[in-house]
Amino acid sequence: MQRAFSELDELETVVARLGSRARCRVVETVACKGREFPIHCISLGSERPDAPVLAFFGGIHGLEKIGTEVILAYMQTIAALLDWDEEFNTRLTKSRLVFMPIVNPVGVFRGTRCNGNGVDLMRNSPIESVGKTRLYSGQRLSARLPWYRGDESRMEKEAQALCRVVHDELFPAPLAIAVDLHSGFGIQDRLWFPYASNHTPYPDIAEACALKQLFDACYPHHVYKIEPMSQEYVISGDLWDYLYDDHVARRARGKLFLPLTLEMGSWLWLRKNPTHLFQRHGLFHPLLPHRQQRIMRRHLTLFDFLYRCLLHPGAWAILDPERQQILRGQALANWYG
Ligand SMILES: [Zn+2]
Repeated sequence: MQRAFSELDELETVVARLGSRARCRVVETVACKGREFPIHCISLGSERPDAPVLAFFGGIHGLEKIGTEVILAYMQTIAALLDWDEEFNTRLTKSRLVFMPIVNPVGVFRGTRCNGNGVDLMRNSPIESVGKTRLYSGQRLSARLPWYRGDESRMEKEAQALCRVVHDELFPAPLAIAVDLHSGFGIQDRLWFPYASNHTPYPDIAEACALKQLFDACYPHHVYKIEPMSQEYVISGDLWDYLYDDHVARRARGKLFLPLTLEMGSWLWLRKNPTHLFQRHGLFHPLLPHRQQRIMRRHLTLFDFLYRCLLHPGAWAILDPERQQILRGQALANWYG
């Protein structure tokens, strides 16, 4: 009998609960040790290519499976809301939600950061980092060492599947926000925008700054540190830098694609229970059920805020030149000083 894959079972349960309200497709299948693992993409709401899109990606690093669980919990909430909440149903007539909760199914199943080929998918794009790097920035020496970037000539199937979903579902939209969930860095929850590969100010910095100011004003006690990822570390092969640059190169005027990485600070859990250190998932996953439940709840406010931002871009994504200039100045002083 095959070993159970609880996250995949949970995904199938929530898809069944959503029923005909969701479109679910297997965008890729990866094999490992004779077993096939599907990669699912679920979308809800408007099918119009010009509808704004909010998308969630999890399990890119299989060990950080709390990301997958937070997304599945959010999908459960949505499934229940859609039964009665007319406002939520109306939102979906003018926008689309996209979910890829288990991008790296072999990694999630086996509890490894990398995929079945030993590749760190978040080091797998062709983007090269600029400036001072470390081993964790990515290496092409060996799959036996961590942070292995894989073969230079082609991206891994999982990474390609993610890029296809972003191209097909997000790029045609006038406004698209992607949230990629990870865990493991530091004691604070961080919300990162590009770049991860260099310290150059990211082209849509004014809009990122406007979004941060809006969030700070609405939720002054929020828990996130919002910053460009390069503020903390610089890496090669980041998929979001790769997709973002691709979007900028081909986008029509006025289109915006904002990729965000939510890095849940797992050292918080460690500090509260140091025995985590001695368990396989402990560094990246809250082991106690109450702590896990708390993390499932913790980010719902952020997700709802981002959804509102998607529906009301006038407050942050459509800026007149004067305001854009001011915000850009503030952003540069804040993050790139
Ligand atoms: Zn990660």
